[in-house]
Amino acid sequence: MQNKKLWLLSLILIFTLSACQNDDSAKGKEEPGESNTATEQNENQTNDNQEDSQKQNQQENQDDEKQEEESNEQENNEKNIPDRFENEVPDENGIITVLEPKATDIVVNKKRKLPDGYVPPNLVYPDIPFSFDEKIDKRKMRKVAAGPIEELFKGAEEAGIDLVAVSGYRSYATQKAIFNRNVQQNGEEHAKMYSAMPGHSEHQTGLTMDVSTVAVTFQLVEDFRETEEGAWLAKHAHEYGFIIRYPKGKEDITGYAYEPWHIRYVGKEMATEIYEQQLTLEEYFNLYPN
Ligand SMILES: [Zn+2]
Repeated sequence: MQNKKLWLLSLILIFTLSACQNDDSAKGKEEPGESNTATEQNENQTNDNQEDSQKQNQQENQDDEKQEEESNEQENNEKNIPDRFENEVPDENGIITVLEPKATDIVVNKKRKLPDGYVPPNLVYPDIPFSFDEKIDKRKMRKVAAGPIEELFKGAEEAGIDLVAVSGYRSYATQKAIFNRNVQQNGEEHAKMYSAMPGHSEHQTGLTMDVSTVAVTFQLVEDFRETEEGAWLAKHAHEYGFIIRYPKGKEDITGYAYEPWHIRYVGKEMATEIYEQQLTLEEYFNLYPN
């Protein structure tokens, strides 16, 4: 009896493993470019980090398998909402520290923060034009999003659209400095309204880029939407896996004013669904910050 069970278990395991290999698109979470963390690490990262991320990757692969088994069981489930959202527990202030911060479908907002000191894996410099010359942190993006943003800029260029990147990755420490300076200058209430608290900025995920164009002198302003470039971005970003993260009219849901310049990588499939149904990331996962 025991042997029969074992035999059955290994059959299921073999089946699940081969399903994983054959159908990457079903996962949608981890893109191919990101699995090779050990070989493609950013120069700055230490060996310790590499080991950690290898361990985490193993854990993530196991989680993926588990998720896939479960999704097979629940074929009627319309949206495949990851388990981790149900396992997240708010602290005494109602703030959730997100689980699996490396997932590309992570949701960070005013009620949901990254773990303290979180540094995303595989930060690289995408080969796209920036509004400044220095080779600094805010040029960086996670590798998983860097390829797609290069494609996006290439697509824009081919359409005669002149996009320029302004700001990508921002570290926990930088966000903390920005927030504290704002508190000192304007008081805590004002600071909370206009700048994200450390850990709450989507820029810290490395999946986000602010873009602009010369017609609005590379500023991050609502008028960007009225430019040819802003219109093109709103219409085509999803084709490259990006969403306009803070749409107009959804301020109460996202917790942020309309930002036609702020794009966030989620992968083509999810981005297209969000674009076509005119959703926010919060609505897509039924997660409301308020
Ligand atoms: Zn932004």
